[in-house]
Amino acid sequence: MRRITVFGSTGSIGVNTLDLIARRPGAFQVVALSGGRNIKLLAEQARAFRAEVAVTAHEDCLPALREALAGTGIEATAGKAALIEAALRPADWIMSAIVGAAGLAPGFAALSQGTTLALANKESLVTAGPLLLAEAAKHNARLLPVDSEHSAVFQALVGEEMAAVERIIITASGGAFRDWPIEKLAHATVAQASTHPNWAMGQRITIDSASFFNKALELIETKEYFGVRPEQIEVLVHPESLVHALVGFKDGALMAHLGAPDMRHAIGYALNWPERAELPVTRLDLAKIGALTFRAPDEDRFPALRLAREVMAMGGTAGAAFNAAKEAALDAFIGEEIGFLAMSRLVEAVLTEMTARHGLGKPLDSLDMVMDTDATARALARSLVPTVRT
Ligand code: NAD
Ligand code: MG
Repeated sequence: MRRITVFGSTGSIGVNTLDLIARRPGAFQVVALSGGRNIKLLAEQARAFRAEVAVTAHEDCLPALREALAGTGIEATAGKAALIEAALRPADWIMSAIVGAAGLAPGFAALSQGTTLALANKESLVTAGPLLLAEAAKHNARLLPVDSEHSAVFQALVGEEMAAVERIIITASGGAFRDWPIEKLAHATVAQASTHPNWAMGQRITIDSASFFNKALELIETKEYFGVRPEQIEVLVHPESLVHALVGFKDGALMAHLGAPDMRHAIGYALNWPERAELPVTRLDLAKIGALTFRAPDEDRFPALRLAREVMAMGGTAGAAFNAAKEAALDAFIGEEIGFLAMSRLVEAVLTEMTARHGLGKPLDSLDMVMDTDATARALARSLVPTVRT
């Protein structure tokens, strides 16, 4: 039996991961599960999978979790230190599916046990890519991509040499507002931004898809994970969300990965890697689908991609500042303090200010440096909220 831990088990990726695990009884033993305030679901999962420990991120939720697990023999713990402790419990495969920069520390800690870390938490690579890869190499741990585009690239690269890769193309559905004119975007509501045309995902990544900040993070994720130059990475809008990525080789060949828009494809690939196992996903009927369409992204309406390219050029601390500013801007949008278009203005203002005040792009030497940059950018973003036009 493979020992498995799932960070963020109560979220969209976490629930899909447990769905695949449940379909193979006897194959996996669940070590730790983690969630936030949804104690009911976390306790249900811990009971159903007979986990060793269930961790809530919030100390004030611990009494409720203890009560929900009373008499089961399952440990209940809470807080950041408890997440790290769970990450150090021996496991063969660990899913990193907490949303946001909060997912970095547990995943990073898990690498020290030389495990396989399935990385849904793209923020880990955006904020601390070089540190994460160095830590994995040091402990002989393996990082597997779970983001659908990056899983697609990873699969298209099986048996290939990176030296033969000319470019990587990641696709974008275009999100909720792909056909909206810019005037209308200014008044987009949180509810409208939280509905994705093709994918069922957590609320934060769904809004990030509508603003293209998700694709912006994914550009940086591609650069960090595959070690390519920023100018080798392209974004292509593909409304059907069936081609997830393409790899272009020096002989001009393009290898594409196609599949239904179902995260269990990418999760299942990482779970069963290096083998392929049967997965409960819809098989594509291309004759019925008929046509696939592609277009270039519109960077006037969605400046996030341009900002990501600036961040990649700076490198070092810029990724952590970018991600933290983006998270703060998203919080402000969800809290209805700023409008949809103001998110990218706020992120840009933070990057400009931080460059002027602190200098952005210093090489990362530690996780503390990442956390410090994150805290500075978040605080600065909060202070700039009243200054951005909504
Ligand atoms: P979600 O919001 O559905 O779930 C997030 C999980 O993290 C929950 O278990 C929640 O309790 C936990 N969490 C939230 N804040 C926390 C904190 N501060 N500390 C500890 N735990 C916390 O998110 P999701 O859509 O499942 O996304 C998870 C990650 O996977 C994100 O990094 C996202 O970008 C990435 N991802 C998601 C999808 C998708 O289809 N949902 C696709 C690609 C990548
Ligand atoms: Mg993705």
